[in-house]
Amino acid sequence: MSLRVFVNEKPVTVARGATVRDAVEALDRDLAGLLASGAAYATDGVGRPVDAGEVIGEGGAILRVVVTARKGGGAARMSKELLRRWPKAELHVHLDGCLRPETMLELAREQGVRLPADTPAGLAQALHVKHAKSLEEYLTKYEITLSVMQTAPALERIAYEFVVDAAADGVRYVEVRYSPLLHRPALTLTQAIEAPLAGIRRAEGETGTKVGLIVCGIRTRPPAESLELARAAATYRGSGLVAFDLAGPERGHPAGEHRAAFEYAAGHGMACTCHAGEGDGPSSIHEALHACGAQRIGHGTRLGEDPALLDYVVERAIPLEMCLSSNLHTHTVTAIAEHPFKRYLERGVVVTLNTDGRLVDGISLTDEYFLAHSALGLSRQDLTRVTLNACQSAFLPEYEKVALVSRVQSELEAL
Ligand SMILES: [Zn+2]
Repeated sequence: MSLRVFVNEKPVTVARGATVRDAVEALDRDLAGLLASGAAYATDGVGRPVDAGEVIGEGGAILRVVVTARKGGGAARMSKELLRRWPKAELHVHLDGCLRPETMLELAREQGVRLPADTPAGLAQALHVKHAKSLEEYLTKYEITLSVMQTAPALERIAYEFVVDAAADGVRYVEVRYSPLLHRPALTLTQAIEAPLAGIRRAEGETGTKVGLIVCGIRTRPPAESLELARAAATYRGSGLVAFDLAGPERGHPAGEHRAAFEYAAGHGMACTCHAGEGDGPSSIHEALHACGAQRIGHGTRLGEDPALLDYVVERAIPLEMCLSSNLHTHTVTAIAEHPFKRYLERGVVVTLNTDGRLVDGISLTDEYFLAHSALGLSRQDLTRVTLNACQSAFLPEYEKVALVSRVQSELEAL
């Protein structure tokens, strides 16, 4: 059986099991040579880089090969392998978006929960948000992952495996978030906080990757629940719980309604961040900063629509926790080339690169670095800046931040 593939808009036919490289070769041997040497890269129909060794799916594919190397040199291209070894820090990732599919299946069997597929590949496919129409649809995928996360041992295991997988991806520091409110009534808030903290501690000891836990209030839930969560979380400050966040559908659910929770968290020594400027415009970022006292912004993609606010964010060095692939999946941007990440970086915004959800977005942090490099043209120096931005924006005590920055800097020099 053969498959139909379009390479640079020209149809080619390849055998089942053929790779991206084979399809390019079927069109143009010279182009395949450039791809092999790293002088060109391949993307899918929406501009996401694909690996030359990737096998083409049953439905065929639309591929584009982009030649990058100019005669006489140009910026040296970095391989995915180099970027995997690159010491990285991540500030914005949801625990409930990062389960191993195999673990989900095991937990579902143990707990008698029904899932939309019964193989790891089928489940990964079912949870992948590539074709979500909006942030709201994207969020429905989390209901599936949460269905197997309603016991303390499951939460402990999922947190443990998340850190192990992040460490294998070259992540030296990660802040992972979730909402303990979404584990009631099966668990109390205390149980829902202690279980992932235990998993994190176990993995930190084994991997050397340092981890901070962030709890999220939910915009669509009553503000009293956010406050209740902030109170429960404050008890664990100093035990690995570092910050309070607000997540969930943004439009029509202003962050300011949850101001009391932010005030409580800040008043009890916790840091604050807030999802904003993803599902809604810059006024939502304004509210997160000025009504809620957020010290960082989750996403902030639409910041540039308000030039005065952009200036403010630059002047105050307010970090943005940006997520390229996720923004594409939620239609916050229409194509990766439209993403303002590089523009913000050049403008002096403290931008950082993050996955948002490794399972639901179908990516690793290495993939996001590779995407920023190959699709947005970030150079080695740019990525160094982005990595150090993340380290310097970590919700860590000052002396620990200094230690993290110097560890990552010396690893980068040795790379
Ligand atoms: Zn998020």
